[in-house]
Amino acid sequence: MREGPILLVHGGAGRYPEGQGEAALAGCEAAARRAWVLLRDGGTALDAVQAAVMALEDDPSFNAGTGSVLNSEGSVEMDASIMDGSTLTAGAVGAVGTVRNPVQLARMVLDEGHTVLRVGPAAETFARQQGLEAVSPEVHVTPRQKARWRQAHETVGCVALDRRGRLAAATSTGGLFDKPPGRVGDSSLIGCGTYADERGAVSCTGQGEVIIRAGLALRVLSALQADTGAEEAAQRVLRWLERRIGGEAGLILLSHRGERAVVHNAQGMAWCCIDAEGRLESGV
Ligand code: ASP
Repeated sequence: MREGPILLVHGGAGRYPEGQGEAALAGCEAAARRAWVLLRDGGTALDAVQAAVMALEDDPSFNAGTGSVLNSEGSVEMDASIMDGSTLTAGAVGAVGTVRNPVQLARMVLDEGHTVLRVGPAAETFARQQGLEAVSPEVHVTPRQKARWRQAHETVGCVALDRRGRLAAATSTGGLFDKPPGRVGDSSLIGCGTYADERGAVSCTGQGEVIIRAGLALRVLSALQADTGAEEAAQRVLRWLERRIGGEAGLILLSHRGERAVVHNAQGMAWCCIDAEGRLESGV
């Protein structure tokens, strides 16, 4: 049994074009370092996953926040969610454009406590009421996205276990390239792209429709029995998804015992983990 704090981030599953794998790895490491300091100093898993995902949203290498993909009408519509496994509280937003950090708005939905998911222009009105600065959706549009070089999913996510054994998860994405307006993916949906409870915490990436149909995040935690390791549970569910539904998916999992898993069936997936001793491991 490993003690917290432990933190694991991902930068999306997919095929990374030349040079992009390194940028994604560097971005994951920087975000993980920033959030791990919070955990080391006694911060909550919830604050840590939010901090990591905000750092990844601000990094234009990822398809989340700045750098989000464009939909079929050339606009940015972002999805994000966050969950506190110790209280089973959650917040999520879908199809928002005028906020800098969608995961920050998702956290505001969690903290406000009346609803779990808010979407579209009404979610943006809620953001203003909460005092979040309005930004033009154009701030998220990078030259790379305009040129439509998107090949990897590059959604971002983080799972964390804090010193007091609390688990949390968060996910953020611009969604799938060329998606129809109003399409909301798994990254907004609790139980699909994001879930955390007393057993573990999960953040997913890949084809949202497949992940939603699998109820992937919650399914992985259900597979995580006391006698099953995190890696085995995650692999088993991914194989099940391939058999029953098909498609591309990846996920990061942290168990309450501090075991981690990074699994995917894509060509690559950038990730980074920092353990209780401050040891950093990463891969792409
Ligand atoms: N899962 C995200 C979605 O379908 C995309 C991704 O992971 O890149 O919106």
